[in-house]
Amino acid sequence: MEWMKTYKKAVTFSYDDGVLQDERFVKLLNHYGIKCTFNINTSLGNEKGSFPVGNIIARRFKIEDLVPLYQGHEVASHTLTHPFLPKLNQDEIIYEVKEDINNINRIFNQETVGFAYPFGQYNDNNVSILKELGVKYARTCDESHDFKIQTDLLRFKPTCHHLYPHIFELIDEFLNSKSDEPQIFYLFGHSYEFDVDDNWDLIEKICQRLGNHSDIFYGTNQEVLL
Ligand SMILES: [Zn+2]
Repeated sequence: MEWMKTYKKAVTFSYDDGVLQDERFVKLLNHYGIKCTFNINTSLGNEKGSFPVGNIIARRFKIEDLVPLYQGHEVASHTLTHPFLPKLNQDEIIYEVKEDINNINRIFNQETVGFAYPFGQYNDNNVSILKELGVKYARTCDESHDFKIQTDLLRFKPTCHHLYPHIFELIDEFLNSKSDEPQIFYLFGHSYEFDVDDNWDLIEKICQRLGNHSDIFYGTNQEVLL
């Protein structure tokens, strides 16, 4: 957490599934100077990876096409096929995580350290396996609604989802805080939700409010949490 030498506050985003809406979303992030970690399933970058949600069919990018798109952001693992991890046996879990990380390392030419639990589902055994496989942080979907530094990084709790009803109060609390303790605002979600809920204006307003502050460090999950 190198940023703490210079900053008291950091902002980072985490968005999942590598869907087509990420193209519009990345433009927004880049415009407001916000960094995101994108959690992807490397065996679903094809028709098999499409799924109905709300009134749309969410479609995923071909994995290779994500390389230029996510330039300047971070790519992390979300398993190969997006299963419910607690329902799999030991070997299946290892395969889902290890192969996804290997694919990401090869395709993006990086060393992957991050993970997001599919459906936010996990148990203690899943956490141990991730640790053994060298994963350094793993995001749950359990919202903390605070900005405290967390130590249990394999059960990391995001500040909130973008649909949290009091999000703008929370953002103001973060921006106005004069605390001497370092603080992190960590937002998560899926960009297909902006189409399903027809609320691109909401995420734009969030980025506008959180972005471009000289006293805030904007980094990927890895840069902010490790
Ligand atoms: Zn997902």
